[in-house]
Amino acid sequence: MHKIDIELVEMTLDVMKYTIDRISSTANKIGKPQKEEALKALVGETITNEGIGGEVAFNLWKKHLMHANVPLDHPRNLAFVPASPTRAAIMFDLVTSASSIHGAYWMEGAGGIFCENEAMRWMVSLTGLPEGAFGVFTSGGTAANLSAIVTAREYWRSINEDNKYKKGLIITSIGAHSSVKAMAKVADIDVLLVDTEDKLEAIELQQTINNLTGLQRERLFAVVGTGGTTNAGIIDDLSGIGQICKTEKLWFHIDAAYGGGALVADSVRYLFNGIETADSITIDPHKWMFSPYDCGAVIYKNPELAKQAHTQEGSYLDIFKDEGAVGFNPSDYQIQLTRRVRGLPLWFSLAMHGVNRYKEAVERGLELAQIAGKLIEEMPHVELVRDPSLSCVLYRRIGWKPEDYTHWTYENHKKGFALVTPTKWKTGASFETVSRFCFINPDTTENDIQMILESMI
Ligand SMILES: *Cc1c(COP(=O)(O)O)cnc(C)c1O
Repeated sequence: MHKIDIELVEMTLDVMKYTIDRISSTANKIGKPQKEEALKALVGETITNEGIGGEVAFNLWKKHLMHANVPLDHPRNLAFVPASPTRAAIMFDLVTSASSIHGAYWMEGAGGIFCENEAMRWMVSLTGLPEGAFGVFTSGGTAANLSAIVTAREYWRSINEDNKYKKGLIITSIGAHSSVKAMAKVADIDVLLVDTEDKLEAIELQQTINNLTGLQRERLFAVVGTGGTTNAGIIDDLSGIGQICKTEKLWFHIDAAYGGGALVADSVRYLFNGIETADSITIDPHKWMFSPYDCGAVIYKNPELAKQAHTQEGSYLDIFKDEGAVGFNPSDYQIQLTRRVRGLPLWFSLAMHGVNRYKEAVERGLELAQIAGKLIEEMPHVELVRDPSLSCVLYRRIGWKPEDYTHWTYENHKKGFALVTPTKWKTGASFETVSRFCFINPDTTENDIQMILESMI
């Protein structure tokens, strides 16, 4: 065998061994970040003219760099929205890379896109959107929200010539995710925030619309509701908002990046009633659908409108017209051209495990939130700020100030025990610092929760 081939085989085996170890280990460390200078001191020069060699570079990764990450799939990582990719999906993520599929066009990626679309059809079925609705996988919820907002804005401009000269306006609530506001900036659209972090009720939305000036009303083209706020798991009054959007002729986007996974759970599906009235929906499979990073999705009631907003024209893109080459082009429905077929790992995992396993895993996350709620009620040193909603639990340690929460978070993290971060909850005009759990990983145990709560005594 040629020398380079031996190296390649050894490298492949090393990488496979690492991967297998990583995904089969039950004792992964929670990890913690280090300053850039500290990492540099540990690894030295890595990019050189001659190369440092695969073995050396991989060893630097294994010995130092991988430990400077805080993996979100640790069972006691309950901060942010954690992750819990299935092993099947992780393994197929490797297959996705190895297959080198350009996922922009059917012409180049038919096999991969076919699989993505199988998974997408299932996701669309969860929403109850009418026949014809379809979607596409994106890099995440941010890109999905941007793709949807731009589609809505372009549609609004297409129905009235005057709108081309107006700056668009959307309404959402302060419970909406930061990416909605950030992406509105990207699209140069103003955002009006209804002042509630709790469930956005139809009546509040209607009042906000009624209070707009004439010019504002002309600029208003969309409402963004949330299907599970990131901070507290709250689902807006989706049917009520949908009804208003219909009457007022406004685009209705639902950001269910985090909560969308719960559509599969029979026990809470009713909370999403009205989602079927949306014009577009964001769901992140890398959150509660157990996909590896990164995998978001945007679904449209009428995908043609997305196509009008996002199709890229280029004369060099226009050559293949034979039957096999003509099909669904993911690049037509979101902001990216060249893209990874990032829905492929989800497809494999769904195909392998079946929908019922997904149901059980999501139900377990919901159940863990209920278990945590019960433990908190039983323990004298902590109390619930509000009832658990989806898999989020907000609670306070009685008597603690903001700095006590920070100190506790640091201590637990330093010990490698858990990562639970404080958040703020708005009541009336004031913000209170509280503690927050978000459950995604079905491997988190009641004992994990109990230990974390006891560490607050
Ligand atoms: C996480 C989240 C986003 C952002 O998604 P990314 O995948 O991080 O880009 C948007 N909206 C909500 C409700 C989220 O929870």
